[in-house]
Amino acid sequence: MKTSYITQKVQQQIRDLADIARLLWERGWAESNAGNISIDISGMLKPFGSSNKQFPQRRMPKQYPELANAQFLITGAGTRMRDVAMQPTKTVIIIEINEDGSAYSMLQNNAETNRLLPTSELATHLTLYQEHRKQGTAIKAIVHTHPTEIIVLTHFPELLNEQTLNTTFWRIHPEALIANPAGIGLIPYILTGTEALAQATADSMQHHPAVVWEKHGCIAAAETISKAFDLIDVANKAAQIYLCCRNAGIVPIGLTDVQLEELKHTFGSPQQR
Ligand SMILES: [Zn+2]
Repeated sequence: MKTSYITQKVQQQIRDLADIARLLWERGWAESNAGNISIDISGMLKPFGSSNKQFPQRRMPKQYPELANAQFLITGAGTRMRDVAMQPTKTVIIIEINEDGSAYSMLQNNAETNRLLPTSELATHLTLYQEHRKQGTAIKAIVHTHPTEIIVLTHFPELLNEQTLNTTFWRIHPEALIANPAGIGLIPYILTGTEALAQATADSMQHHPAVVWEKHGCIAAAETISKAFDLIDVANKAAQIYLCCRNAGIVPIGLTDVQLEELKHTFGSPQQR
């Protein structure tokens, strides 16, 4: 990706993306080619537009009008997070959406990335950016990964309820509420890479900045890639603490009702009070 049109700002975003990829790998959340990351870099590059013949357009099954002319960094399909961390220029693609949001082109002429396509979760990433733009909320980065302990908890039938899961997290690790007062979303198992998963995630994200995918993983969206990572990291810490207690042979009670109410009153979002 050492092409002349890539600005220093974009280079910094690529480095930030690679740093988070390294963290996902080090956490053990990115086995093989698991996970995907994107960053909205609109405004950091001059749009090429559809008249440009250098980068051919690929039509998408769905149209994203709010994303017209937007540009994104996104990890390539099949790439490993450990490789993204070490060699982002070979594993991260820059895409530009066309004028009516019906197609994208890949802005690169580097032989190293020309063989790559965007992640198979492209529809989910674009749907989330589109829905947030519709609502006027400025998310700039999305992280999807496989946080082990959160996934384990989705195999506990008694926790497969959004309110129960959040209350469990907040009772066992108060920081989970402080870091994410809106709580984490939870959607039932849906096949990966599908429009149905993208839409269910977007619906849940109307209320939650991070969403658990049952028996699969977690996805988070935020103003920066670090904040998106933090949302998952804090929730997974709560899941770890809960599981440590269960492994020690106890079912933890965590905060009392009074303590939980105090926490919600002090740090909770309006709907949680
Ligand atoms: Zn996944």
